[in-house]
Amino acid sequence: MAYRNEVSYEWERAQHLRELRAGKVTREELCDADFLLRAAAEHHGVDMQKPCPVCGEELRLTRWVYGDSLKRRAGSARSAAEIAEMAAEGLEFTVHFVEVCPACRWNHLLRAATVYARR
Ligand SMILES: [Zn+2]
Repeated sequence: MAYRNEVSYEWERAQHLRELRAGKVTREELCDADFLLRAAAEHHGVDMQKPCPVCGEELRLTRWVYGDSLKRRAGSARSAAEIAEMAAEGLEFTVHFVEVCPACRWNHLLRAATVYARR
């Protein structure tokens, strides 16, 4: 499988952190991971070997899949292996890579990309 139409949201991430440090937004506003996101980080996420920019705890990477071709699976968190299997079915869909801090609930979309089976 391969990715195309990759979009990075690193600039927005840096912007949010600048605003936090400048006191323009509160920690509560940015660190708002809901129950679903935190559960997904725990059960489907992988350690990113990268500290949370807010509290320094270990970040978890979650992958969310979107697209009509996925039917009921759309909008769910998936492992890299499951995403590879869905691509192998010939489906084309979008994956959102979201970092989550289970400790302080910081979360941010890092990048989005379309997955397709390499033929
Ligand atoms: Zn944190």
